[in-house]
Amino acid sequence: MLVPMKDILVAAREGGYGVTAPNINNEDTLRAAIEAAVENNAPMILDVGFSANPDIVWFGRVCEQFAKEAPVPVCINQDHGANFESAVWAIRAGYTSVMADRSTCEYEENIRLVSEIVKMAHAVGVSVEAELGHVGQGFQYAVDRDAALTDPAQAADYVARTGIDCLAVAIGTAHGEYKGTPYLDFDRLHEIYDAVSVPLVLHGGSGTGDENLAKATREGISKVNLATDLYKAGAKAWNDEECVHLSPGYKLVKAGYKDKLIHYMKLFNQCGKA
Ligand SMILES: [Zn+2]
Repeated sequence: MLVPMKDILVAAREGGYGVTAPNINNEDTLRAAIEAAVENNAPMILDVGFSANPDIVWFGRVCEQFAKEAPVPVCINQDHGANFESAVWAIRAGYTSVMADRSTCEYEENIRLVSEIVKMAHAVGVSVEAELGHVGQGFQYAVDRDAALTDPAQAADYVARTGIDCLAVAIGTAHGEYKGTPYLDFDRLHEIYDAVSVPLVLHGGSGTGDENLAKATREGISKVNLATDLYKAGAKAWNDEECVHLSPGYKLVKAGYKDKLIHYMKLFNQCGKA
């Protein structure tokens, strides 16, 4: 069933578990994510990005169809929405959540731009995720790691003034592959968790390590975004076989991706929570 992201994440925060938000970019990764959720009686958040599939309306309609037919709660979330127009397009395409990422803007501008999207999205029952602080890129982790960690006191003000449904936090993770060893600021996570009442989101799950992610989802993170680890697992399954036709290759990609996704679903205690 197709649901707003808020429904899935409020239950996760109350239940003390995490929910995977795999990046999907085509029919194969979409099928893999839905199958993983159904087979494990788990909720699922499909994270769709413009960069991976620019045809947001067509792909949104495909996702919507799969989500509606699934016997478990499924949300379609626009990952890192670029501007107001892209959020409108996503909602028109059937997305039940949009991320308004204005984390590189100055604080008051961030609030102003995100609030506009909240007003529009909430009018039609769509959830909004936004980011405070900034999660950088793994390849420049030495520089990015401490550049813009989330301030707990500011987080409370930010959530109250924007009206967002969930908050993406910077506590030491990074997007893509880490250059260096990731280390998470769990004290900061606890402080943010106590300061705000909305569910918390962790971007940059790939390569962060099972121990870190299990702890994070036990101690306050309700949603973990995953892309690189899943795509790499899918590509590896493809490379392990000699594919003459594209079709069996896609099946292998799906299988590698799905196995890795289920690994994380079990790690976050998400199975059986549909
Ligand atoms: Zn992200």
